[in-house]
Amino acid sequence: MEKTKKAALRPKDKKNLVRISAALAMFCAVFVADKIVSLQGVLGGKHGWLFPFALYAAVYLLIGYDVLYKAVRNICRGRVLDENFLMCVATLGAFTLAIYRGETGREIEGFDEACAVLLFYQVGEWFQSFATGRSRASIASLMDIRPDYANVKRGDAWEKADPNEVQAGEIIMVFPGEKVPLDGVIVAGATALDAKALTGESLPRDAAAGDQVISGCVNLSSQIEVRATKPFYDSTVSKILDLVENAAGQKSKAENFITKFAKYYTPAVVAAALILGIVPALITSDWATWLYRALAFLVVSCPCALVISIPLSFFAGLGAASKHGILVKGSNYLEKLHKADVFVFDKTGTLTKGNFTVTKITPADAREEILRLAAAAEQASDHPIARSIVAAYGKAADKGYTLTNIAGAGVEAVRGQDVILCGNETLLRQKGVAYVKEEEAGTVVYVARNGKFVGSLLIADQIKEEAAQVVGELNAMGCRTVMLTGDNAAVARSVARTIGVTDHKAQLLPQDKVEEVQKLLSAQNKNGALCFVGDGINDAPVLMRSDIGVAMGGVGSDAAIEAADVVLMQDDLRGLPLGKRVAKKTMRVVTQNIVFSLVVKAAVLVLSALGIANMWIAVFGDVGVAVLAILNAMRVNGRYDKKPRANGCAKV
Ligand code: ADP
Ligand code: MG
Repeated sequence: MEKTKKAALRPKDKKNLVRISAALAMFCAVFVADKIVSLQGVLGGKHGWLFPFALYAAVYLLIGYDVLYKAVRNICRGRVLDENFLMCVATLGAFTLAIYRGETGREIEGFDEACAVLLFYQVGEWFQSFATGRSRASIASLMDIRPDYANVKRGDAWEKADPNEVQAGEIIMVFPGEKVPLDGVIVAGATALDAKALTGESLPRDAAAGDQVISGCVNLSSQIEVRATKPFYDSTVSKILDLVENAAGQKSKAENFITKFAKYYTPAVVAAALILGIVPALITSDWATWLYRALAFLVVSCPCALVISIPLSFFAGLGAASKHGILVKGSNYLEKLHKADVFVFDKTGTLTKGNFTVTKITPADAREEILRLAAAAEQASDHPIARSIVAAYGKAADKGYTLTNIAGAGVEAVRGQDVILCGNETLLRQKGVAYVKEEEAGTVVYVARNGKFVGSLLIADQIKEEAAQVVGELNAMGCRTVMLTGDNAAVARSVARTIGVTDHKAQLLPQDKVEEVQKLLSAQNKNGALCFVGDGINDAPVLMRSDIGVAMGGVGSDAAIEAADVVLMQDDLRGLPLGKRVAKKTMRVVTQNIVFSLVVKAAVLVLSALGIANMWIAVFGDVGVAVLAILNAMRVNGRYDKKPRANGCAKV
């Protein structure tokens, strides 16, 4: 996806950049002047340090006033051992040592180092802030979907109202350029809708009267009137916003490790610095040298690189995924997605489009009657089969039926004494209704009324264009792919063969699917993870049970969005291998950063304790590592390509 606009610097980052540049210029001027004519010699004598001190102190205050302030503030709040404190102790200590050397008539050294430490520290902070801002921007573009108001019809007039106050059933007007505030159905007008912020899909979609619209889309071309079908809190926008806002709370193992690590590491290092500053000095009584080494040691000890770059890498991973319409509910799921080695798929609506077409009705002379009964029974169901039957009937269905969904089998609709059954063989057998078996291969829906068989519909679905390619890609990554379905064995076999899944099981009720997944979970190796991919219809229990539940997030399947850990907003299965690639890169960058910063830290700590690394090297060790780790983390938010879709799709 191309970057349309390069994000401008945030005001805070801009201000700090100016401050850092100014301080750097001042520092260079003073430093160079000091090297040419010894500033200590200007006043001369015992108090010769005063002149350079005044100049360096000015630089120090300009670059470090906020660090000093934060250190004092945090001490008052009882948080003593934070990085601000470490920086203050190290730099103020360096100043004190320099003054001590001046007073005792030696050449001063240390003012420049103290300033440099803070200067580089601020450069590191700036990078961190910049990188966080960048990653947040890609998630914030998702946040942009929040509508501010709705134009709602009250009486004869249009009013601007808070979307929260609009009831389901009310009519709202959406002008071009506005966001659709609530989920609904278009009642007047036709337009093109842009769902890019929601799904990453860059092509606008045409919609006209009768079509469903989801909140968060931007209306592009002309005004439409929409009848809200859900209140705001139930609309797609609210659900997605909740999901994104809670994502940061789900911490990965790596992040938890770092938090714990920092908690023990910082006090340990401060203790080590104290010992380094005191014990050898007691023996050699060379206080200046050992105090200086202890201060350099403190500068390196700051765990910045780790503490910053790990969450930042995950953040970038979540951002990269969401740019491609893959919503991941937390960094722990990114970690699991990387480990995922078993992918279990639901068939209808997941591997297939769920767009059924009626291909045969038996007996043919009862065609109209069978369709009428089936449509009457199915009108309130949101199963893909039900929707296609209602569409095939094409007329307004008979009203007044109360529907009972018999998951994995079909529906039972009751109106007074009138009972219609509509579903597969399991349903009719369960209800003790004799039926004529449809022998032709395909998904069959049997219809019965008041205990008597009426006829059957043979319906055909289409396999998604990308299904075979995605399953192939996952197989090639070494994953096991399994298809579970409630449909009959013949259809299951044909789909499984076309797509190339490693295993499949047919005629499963929802509870059987749970059992199958449970079996797979217990056979699972410890370093793997099981990923279940479903459309959320009849499979929410499995979505919850698996290590990672992936749901198709297309129009209106709310149950899925809630039960799942990962949502594919475009119903595009290519999000799976792509998500796995993003997860892999994230985890690789996380490992690199942990290893790299620990190794460099350890080396510089040893060198500074031995007096080989002075404070200059120490500060490079710290800030250099942090900046490199941050840049590495930003790589995660790079480009990921989806393979183009194959053309055409097989019927089943
Ligand atoms: P899948 O596992 O393929 O997603 P489901 O568990 O949703 O399928 O449904 C399994 C089977 O139950 C379907 O193939 C169909 O035969 C039957 N069925 C489920 N819901 C309905 C319905 N509303 N109308 C008719 N048949 C249904
Ligand atoms: Mg299903």
